[in-house]
Amino acid sequence: MERLEKRAVSEVLICDGAMGTELQQRGLEIGSCPELWCLEKPELVKEIHQAYKDAGSNIVETNTFCGSRYKLDKFGLSDKVEQINFAGVKIAREIAGHSQYVIASLGPTGEFMQPIGLETEQSFYETFCTQAKAFEAGGADAVIVETMTSIEECCVAIRAVLETTGLTCIASFTFDPLADGRYASMMGVFPEQFAEQAIAAGAHILGSNCGLGPAHMINIIRSIRAVAGDIPLMAMPNAGMPELKDDETIFPEGPEQFASHVEKLIEVGASIIGGCCGTTPAHIAALAEKIKSL
Ligand SMILES: [Zn+2]
Repeated sequence: MERLEKRAVSEVLICDGAMGTELQQRGLEIGSCPELWCLEKPELVKEIHQAYKDAGSNIVETNTFCGSRYKLDKFGLSDKVEQINFAGVKIAREIAGHSQYVIASLGPTGEFMQPIGLETEQSFYETFCTQAKAFEAGGADAVIVETMTSIEECCVAIRAVLETTGLTCIASFTFDPLADGRYASMMGVFPEQFAEQAIAAGAHILGSNCGLGPAHMINIIRSIRAVAGDIPLMAMPNAGMPELKDDETIFPEGPEQFASHVEKLIEVGASIIGGCCGTTPAHIAALAEKIKSL
């Protein structure tokens, strides 16, 4: 297959939608480890990948978001980092075959590096290297360093992917709206700063995921495009801004409303589009339909 960063220059590609909520619908209990299902219930994870493939996605994202040693350690699974990340990619590849790209999800550690936290850059680097090698061994096309809010952690992860594998590296940040109309990550990083530093670290594709819905995502992609030159951009918004209703987080946008923003997202520079929290196979199907009609 042509490398993802090449293909995404000339074509709009559709990624998939949320994984966590789909797992919960199949019986995953809140508070248990979603990634463990790559080993224990691979058939159900494959069912989700298949549902997104049937909805029209060109790209499948693996169930490995919390696959770092730090996150798995909370479940007593720190000795299974390699197996879980390897299995997550293998399962996705079984469904993807050679008709979809497999991108391996690498999420934040949940810890902070010195001087804010206690962890060293080297310990972050080592866990990311372990994941990246397992992703390549399992047959991934790309790694997405995603839902990042710290530029330091993001750039260590990019470096780990580039120095230990030959895979495409996508860097994707999560931003929140500010009162003055701008956007910044939880750690105070603006979209332009993220883009400049992720490019300097060598990322092949830049993106934004989670945090907010497609209307806000249009503004973020525009800001990233302004400093990103010709690098392909990926947009993975939530199904609208999360709302709290009876202590439950609700994502208000249905498939049609979600898909209605896609033309504008492409216009401001996104060429890989999918969904994050609150999106379902129906959202991806609506997205695929809309893109086909443009
Ligand atoms: Zn999300």
